[in-house]
Amino acid sequence: MIFEFSQRLKKLPPYLFAEIDRMKRELRSRGKELIDLGVGDPDQPTPPHIIEALSRAARDPSTHNYALDFGMTELREAIADWYRRRFGVELDPATEILPLLGAKEGIAHLPLAFVNPGEVVLVPNPGYPVYLSGTIFAGGLPVSMGLLEKNGFLPDFSGIPEETADRTRLMFLNYPNNPTAAVCDPGFFEEAASFAAQHQIILCHDAAYTELAYDGFSPSSFLQAPGAKEVGIEFHSLSKTYNMTGWRVGFAVGNEEVIRGLSKVKSNIDSGIFRAVQFAAIAALKGPQDFRLELLETYRRRRDILVDGLNSLGWKVAKPRATFYVWCRTPEGYDSASFATLLLEETGIVTTPGVGLGSYGEGYVRISLTRPEEELAEAVERLKTLKIFR
Ligand SMILES: *Cc1c(COP(=O)(O)O)cnc(C)c1O
Repeated sequence: MIFEFSQRLKKLPPYLFAEIDRMKRELRSRGKELIDLGVGDPDQPTPPHIIEALSRAARDPSTHNYALDFGMTELREAIADWYRRRFGVELDPATEILPLLGAKEGIAHLPLAFVNPGEVVLVPNPGYPVYLSGTIFAGGLPVSMGLLEKNGFLPDFSGIPEETADRTRLMFLNYPNNPTAAVCDPGFFEEAASFAAQHQIILCHDAAYTELAYDGFSPSSFLQAPGAKEVGIEFHSLSKTYNMTGWRVGFAVGNEEVIRGLSKVKSNIDSGIFRAVQFAAIAALKGPQDFRLELLETYRRRRDILVDGLNSLGWKVAKPRATFYVWCRTPEGYDSASFATLLLEETGIVTTPGVGLGSYGEGYVRISLTRPEEELAEAVERLKTLKIFR
């Protein structure tokens, strides 16, 4: 029997990391010690008090049933408190907050609630791949907003044709940005909110990295912009903030109608977040935050080792003010795939070729700071041996 994939599956862009994955496996099987700076997954464990909260809650049988309540009231209140403290934004826990099985889940499902076949979704390119796949699954038409270095990796709304903007239902933004590590100022969010209002676009801001910033910089929330709540929502994740990628918990906040649409889709697909995980999320949001200073210090030291090291080799790499990514231009004569392949073959360093995250990522590789200082220092040492930088 031949079971053909659906059109929507066939429409997904090709998976561009297959060759890198194959080479990783082969080099590992030959005993080569790889330094994997490809994945965006924290290497540090979840803090003990959060694990404690999960264990305690898991032993209580009242957490064992379906959690069909769009998130426990206590969790929604903890999110509202966190938002007020962190951003000074007021949210109604009953209508403006929706806990998710990770931000990815909400991002993937949102287009199903609001996008009809053929309607446009504006997606940042390069970008987190789920904006694109979620759009395609809903039958929407993804239109790239190129993130160019000369624009500080911000989309240029004035470059979007009127007729495209008027056919647009949804727009995704993400600052601090994966993969470019770019940040934006509050003025950009104001501009985005007014563009969205003008064209009746639902604006979805992915705020997965607002809590990972350095040198005293504190990223803003999209919802701090005037009128933001009228046009959109913001996705947050506990994954990167609290080292909880495996736990699958995040949330969406903002516009009541948008939240209602997303929760309606979800109620037909999942049956809630394990309540013990919700208790753990409450512990994360309400508990001690001082370990986070240490975590940020760890990433900052790693960033300095890597970026200072690369620049001492003659690379021209900017120090990111947020995220745990370094976005590097490829040298003369290499595109992102051939450079990533060269790095892997010659030095055993795994990076993410920018083109794998969108056509506008061509000419760059993404390096993650999710490995210990010794490994990043070792990576710089290995790069010294690369002839092309001599
Ligand atoms: C890691 C990441 C997410 C995923 O968050 P989860 O809560 O783990 O699903 C979402 N958006 C971006 C840009 C990310 O890098």
